[in-house]
Amino acid sequence: MDVVAAQWRERGGEVVAPRPATLDELARVHDREYLRRVAGTAGRAVALDPDTFTSPESHEIALLAAGATLMAVERAMDGRTAALALVRPPGHHAERDRAMGFCLYNNVAAAAAHARAIGAGRVAIVDFDVHHGNGTQHIFEADPNVLYASAHQYPYYPGTGAVTETGTGAGAGATVNLPLEAGAIDDDYRIVFAEVILPVLRQFKPDLLLVSAGFDAHERDPLGGMRLTTPAFGAMTLELRAVADECCGGRMALVTEGGYDLHALAASLEAVIQVLAGRSVQAAWPGPGPHRSTRGRDSAAAATRALAPFWRF
Ligand SMILES: [Zn+2]
Repeated sequence: MDVVAAQWRERGGEVVAPRPATLDELARVHDREYLRRVAGTAGRAVALDPDTFTSPESHEIALLAAGATLMAVERAMDGRTAALALVRPPGHHAERDRAMGFCLYNNVAAAAAHARAIGAGRVAIVDFDVHHGNGTQHIFEADPNVLYASAHQYPYYPGTGAVTETGTGAGAGATVNLPLEAGAIDDDYRIVFAEVILPVLRQFKPDLLLVSAGFDAHERDPLGGMRLTTPAFGAMTLELRAVADECCGGRMALVTEGGYDLHALAASLEAVIQVLAGRSVQAAWPGPGPHRSTRGRDSAAAATRALAPFWRF
């Protein structure tokens, strides 16, 4: 993270130390009883879930991760800059009442709720982590003012994110899932962005665009089964930045999620930072590689059918 912070600073970005999130800020998206349970792990090593363990410092660090994400929202909402919260632990698997998949607090969900509390009417969250953000989807699935759109490996952990999950009640249509079979390449992501995610964002017209920026769909990632190259992360960020410029005065904040190959993570973050700094000359989608795939086209076709009652494609 120090390396990435140095890259950011070199490009004229400001690096700010995080503050801890308050319990009231987290209680917008988590049950108080759950917050008490996580706080009770301070100073101890505890297994909260088969994949989610704490060390003695985890609670304190998770509060700082959520707090950094809230600060990124505050800065983006001020219109001062696009902001990037460089955090661990990740957040998008954390449910309202339980830890899951390395996540204690749902950072991006707390960020969306914070944005609504400080004046954003509508918030969109785009999640390109290789895993589906079950926690984020569930927290907002009935809320028409928070749109959640995810491109993810499917079927895969955590099992949610089918194309037919489109939101519930008043939130119908505000959940957008692009499940992709393992092995998806840059061009598959380019297609689901161009045919589904970007058109929906332009119709939803958010006041703030949040990004759950996971880097575990990278071809080198040891957990994910996708084949994204490093420049694809710059290309996705550039597309999202263009929507933020069009719809919400450039108000955009990214928060890191997964990404488990440290070299791929650093290189992909650098591609993202180049775009955020406005100096990228190589953020276009990479040209066709050696692989061919219909995964993106298949996913986009299924999603446009499932979402046809709610959006124009
Ligand atoms: Zn992930």
